[in-house]
Amino acid sequence: MIETGKGAFQDIRDAVRALCAQFPDAYHRRVDDARGYPEEFVEALTRAGWMAALIPEAYGGSGLGLTEASVIMEEINRSGGNSGACHGQMYNMNTLIRHGSEEQRRRYLPKIAAGELRLQSMGVTEPTTGTDTTKIKTTAVRRGDRYVINGQKVWISRVQHSDLMILLARTTPLAEVAKKSEGLSIFLVDIKAAMGAGMAVRPIPNMVNHETNELFFDNLEIPVENLIGEEGKGFKYILTGLNAERTLIAAECIGDGYWFTERVAKYVSEREVFGRPIGKNQGVQFPIAEAFIDVEAANLMRWEACRRYDAGLDCGAQANMAKYLAAKASWGAANACIQFHGGFGFACEYDVERKFRETRLYQVAPISTNLILSYVAEHILGMPRSF
Ligand SMILES: Cc1cc2nc3c(=O)[nH]c(=O)nc-3n(C[C@H](O)[C@H](O)[C@H](O)COP(=O)(O)OP(=O)(O)OC[C@H]3O[C@@H](n4cnc5c(N)ncnc54)[C@H](O)[C@@H]3O)c2cc1C
Repeated sequence: MIETGKGAFQDIRDAVRALCAQFPDAYHRRVDDARGYPEEFVEALTRAGWMAALIPEAYGGSGLGLTEASVIMEEINRSGGNSGACHGQMYNMNTLIRHGSEEQRRRYLPKIAAGELRLQSMGVTEPTTGTDTTKIKTTAVRRGDRYVINGQKVWISRVQHSDLMILLARTTPLAEVAKKSEGLSIFLVDIKAAMGAGMAVRPIPNMVNHETNELFFDNLEIPVENLIGEEGKGFKYILTGLNAERTLIAAECIGDGYWFTERVAKYVSEREVFGRPIGKNQGVQFPIAEAFIDVEAANLMRWEACRRYDAGLDCGAQANMAKYLAAKASWGAANACIQFHGGFGFACEYDVERKFRETRLYQVAPISTNLILSYVAEHILGMPRSF
């Protein structure tokens, strides 16, 4: 059991809150308005060691678990910030820690812990295959001591603010593997070395201020020592990382959910229309109370996913369900928040519309709600496969 009651992880919460307080709403609003990257904020998180939370102490990190990492992400979103600018490092890290060789860990982890390198990007999604990941068309063909990469990716985030990327590519053609999940491999790509030497990056302007890109690979050469784990097992490795990603994003949605419900509860208690606070009306109170209940309930599944992940237990079901419930709860809270701010919910200076856009993303990425429902239907409830 994780102790999750009042005061749990209070030292982490207090420290992250104190750091976030130096980056108030106006900071995040300015970055959003400029379509910029919160460089100073991410740098401050890195310098304070929070971005190295999951790196074992032997490699210069603080050796914390996914549970603590999720508290850090939750607090960033609860403070009004957006972990989307930096959460990649948290879940990518685990792929390297769990599946990288000792040589790779020694080479990269101390530098990441010291803030000299960033591992913020993961390249999985492709334009023509979407959610059907095992059908990806990007290939990695071994030639001597190199892999040669060809293909295309889409929606690959933080590439311009990262030094390293974990890339998924097919090493054995689909027609030659017994199971479609076999024959895929993951690689560490040195982004700066790759740019202009076989990898082109095209930014995608989007609804959220999220630095995300199309990537084009044209005979990009990667040294064989950049293969992570065994060739052909990459899909399995990526899945472990995805469970961490889903759990962390659930925690971010929980942070958003609290931000929305706290903001709107305060606003409706102060805003007077018809000679009394609008929050006196039960038609206003109840949707906010309901949204809060949904956030609290989703939070329980988030802790369960964290507990199982940190105990090394299978947590696919819990990570998916936590992400589903938390994304739904934060979206419900976002709607209540914007609704009861009336017209002011649409004014940028209240930050509600910014957070509203940010939390909407999690119905679709990193996995859509439909795909989670299909996972539960097939893998938990044993219904027939639909695809
Ligand atoms: C801002 C942003 C950042 C991202 N960052 C990254 C990143 O860093 N790295 C990365 O690899 N990817 C990233 N992604 C990609 C993201 O993971 C995908 O967009 C998401 O998984 C959905 O895939 P798709 O867009 O190809 O949708 P599609 O697969 O085309 O699906 C479209 C919709 O159809 C529905 N659907 C599809 N198939 C089924 C089915 N069989 N049954 C029922 N419903 C179905 C789903 O509701 C889905 O939302 C990012 C996306 C966004 C928008």
